[in-house]
Amino acid sequence: MGRPTVAEVDLDALTHNVQQIRRHLKEKVEILAVVKADAYGHGAEAVAKELTLAGVSLLGVACVEEGIALRQSGVALPILVLSGVYPGDLQEVIRNRLTPVLYTWETCRALVEEAKKFPQQVSVHVKVDTGMNRLGFSWRNWGAVVEFLRSQEKLRIEGLLSHLAVAESEDTEDRAFTQEQIRRFKACVHQARTAGMEPRYVHLGNSAATVRWEEAQFNLVRTGLILYGVDPGLAREKGIALRPALTWKTAVLSVKQVPAGDSVSYGRLYSSRRDSLIATLPVGYADGYRRRLSNRGAVLIRGQRARVAGVVCMDLTMVDVTTIPGVQPGDEVVLLGRQGREEISAAEMAGWAETIPYEVLCAIGKRVPRLHVHRKDKN
Ligand SMILES: *Cc1c(COP(=O)(O)O)cnc(C)c1O
Repeated sequence: MGRPTVAEVDLDALTHNVQQIRRHLKEKVEILAVVKADAYGHGAEAVAKELTLAGVSLLGVACVEEGIALRQSGVALPILVLSGVYPGDLQEVIRNRLTPVLYTWETCRALVEEAKKFPQQVSVHVKVDTGMNRLGFSWRNWGAVVEFLRSQEKLRIEGLLSHLAVAESEDTEDRAFTQEQIRRFKACVHQARTAGMEPRYVHLGNSAATVRWEEAQFNLVRTGLILYGVDPGLAREKGIALRPALTWKTAVLSVKQVPAGDSVSYGRLYSSRRDSLIATLPVGYADGYRRRLSNRGAVLIRGQRARVAGVVCMDLTMVDVTTIPGVQPGDEVVLLGRQGREEISAAEMAGWAETIPYEVLCAIGKRVPRLHVHRKDKN
């Protein structure tokens, strides 16, 4: 189709990022690549296939539907369902060889029952809550969980995991809390091993923890953000050179002269003080270009920054190109990513929108086609 608003995903950047992360991991630490939420907006199927080639050991999704979609596209790696399997999902979980994360008694019991209908054992990872207070069996009652699980012959306890609440923080109290979470988790793992459980994988760290907390690597890290080339903090300082994989682009739809004093867009919240050139772009909040960027965001055209002028509409956004010579319809516009020497990072856009890079990437809408390319081939 002709609409030029696309998200270009450089698959070679993913492989590059995996290699960079691997250099930073201790020996024998493997990678679980988190590809939930359509691989943070990058297109889960293509990303999962590329990361399989890049040598990651497991994939992580949020829900069973995401896991089934990957299986149907031919992805063979183990797939961990991180954020919830429901009793009605269990048959499909087993059929599709998805690995559930267990964190409630109900699901444990229901899975044991469902597993009896199948000849094989069912692999699971078990989550302990060490202080996040989101998902997981409490570290305080972990002994009862171990007692229950050690006698379940239909379940193979392939992994034990927990999740950190403030892995990215430099604050002294936060760091002490992370240390306490690590201590609690180690104690739970020890208790499980003492009871005879032999989990192949023990994992705690997300991207930020992988970079900052060597003790949180255990023998598997669960990385999302960093794989996509977004620094979770300190990556550069630690010598991890990331390449953002996603470039969100469009092209100028029309250019008009707007005399001094005229207003632009709904609500008349932008008025030019000078005779201006305003370019209209075919992207809006229905594409995930956040309305909070009204009068705040910027885009790249002809290698220069152009500020968003007035409010972002559902399908269109105006930018001020007065100081950029020669702008015409069809000119490439970079919303997120690099153009020439300029770059708009997910972190910068997140700052304008008062959110975090994760949300910027996940928000890129369904209407925006993902184009998967190999930049290495092109250059
Ligand atoms: C999303 C998620 C991750 C990945 O976090 P990043 O900060 O993107 O690396 C890791 N673990 C769990 C349980 C998650 O839900």
